[in-house]
Amino acid sequence: MTDFRFESGEEFAMRLDASDPLATYRHEFWIPKTASGDNCIYLCGHSLGLQPKTARESIHQELRDWAQLGVEAHFHARNPWMPYHRLVTEQTAELVGAKPVEVVVMNSLTVNLHVMMVSFYRPTRNRHKIVIERAAFPSDQYAIKSQIGFHELDAATSLIELTPRPDESCLRDEDIEELIGNEGESIALILLGGVNYATGQAFNMERITRAGHAQGCVVGFDLAHAAGNLRLKLHDWGPDFAVWCSYKYLNGGPGAVAGCFVHERHAHAETLPRFAGWWGHEEQTRFEMGPNFRAMAGAEGWQLSNPPILSLAPLRASMDIFHAVGMESLRAKSVKLTGYLEFLLNQAESAAFSIITPHESERRGAQLSLRVPRGGQSLCERLAGEGIFGDWRSRDTFRVAPVPLYNSYQDVYRFAQRFVAAVGSVA
Ligand SMILES: *Cc1c(COP(=O)(O)O)cnc(C)c1O
Repeated sequence: MTDFRFESGEEFAMRLDASDPLATYRHEFWIPKTASGDNCIYLCGHSLGLQPKTARESIHQELRDWAQLGVEAHFHARNPWMPYHRLVTEQTAELVGAKPVEVVVMNSLTVNLHVMMVSFYRPTRNRHKIVIERAAFPSDQYAIKSQIGFHELDAATSLIELTPRPDESCLRDEDIEELIGNEGESIALILLGGVNYATGQAFNMERITRAGHAQGCVVGFDLAHAAGNLRLKLHDWGPDFAVWCSYKYLNGGPGAVAGCFVHERHAHAETLPRFAGWWGHEEQTRFEMGPNFRAMAGAEGWQLSNPPILSLAPLRASMDIFHAVGMESLRAKSVKLTGYLEFLLNQAESAAFSIITPHESERRGAQLSLRVPRGGQSLCERLAGEGIFGDWRSRDTFRVAPVPLYNSYQDVYRFAQRFVAAVGSVA
């Protein structure tokens, strides 16, 4: 739980910024501008993170090496392309609390979900169900239902969707554990988001993993909204796999190369079925171009293709920043920044909106989801016209995420002022 003493008034926000040890990181990002040249209030890092100023040079380096060296750049570029994806391995491992052998950046998120489910969703007659959130991100629902169909099973009997209690917006931890306890023997795979994209609820991944494993289930997480947002300890928590994208909190750029975690216990699992590609083949003999696949140890063994260097380049720039800041101090600021937003919104005591994200800091990340039953979408559009960005989802929800790397307390103050005034006038 957080225990900050917040005060109203813009001067307080300015004092918080003045004493914020991470305040200078804001200057390492391009903040979008309004038509009149002012900084936008960008609370949309849950959707697309902002561009690190170093991203451009990182891409240019590879463009120059391509121009000057052609194919030779695979070995002789300043950052040789053959092992290029490894330039972010250590930092990625640090980011999600994993060992380097457990992580790889490759593909995109939904592709990685499929690649992981091919190996880790292995239904049998008695154990065939997948547990997801009712409000899971649509791509995850499509991917999961299509995997169920791929095994000639029916989602009506093989999919369990966790639903909040009547009149509640978020799931209760005890309800998740109770379901796993009751139905565990029929569950093949538990696949939840680390943070639900719609409600902003963070799940207790450690407890869910323990409960699932106690019942013999495989446990995976979609960390699209958790990577770069929460402190993660994937190795210690022990899920079998996890996947995430790199363009939200990780600021890797639109469509950035995604991440994948496979727990060390599966690093040499030669019997697991997998969809193979040459980049997952044992490195020493990859270029002998033999007909039979031999997997590399660890998460790298699930790679398919040689990676997109131009898309990895901006991710490198961003991961350098994450490494410099560290998730611990980032999360400390995040808890305070989001707590401050909640404080300001609650002060308004408005009936025109409600916060559906849990109040406890360990049950949420940076994002607050604001339910605006009437006129919310046009409100969201109006604010965007003024350079104030959140986003609108699920018919009645305005999602805003103060991102500790580049949002200031003053951003939060100004957003709250403007939002409260505007929402009052539509209701
Ligand atoms: C953003 C997001 C996606 C998007 O999938 P892509 O394959 O990156 O397009 C999928 N799942 C979740 C949970 C997300 O938050």
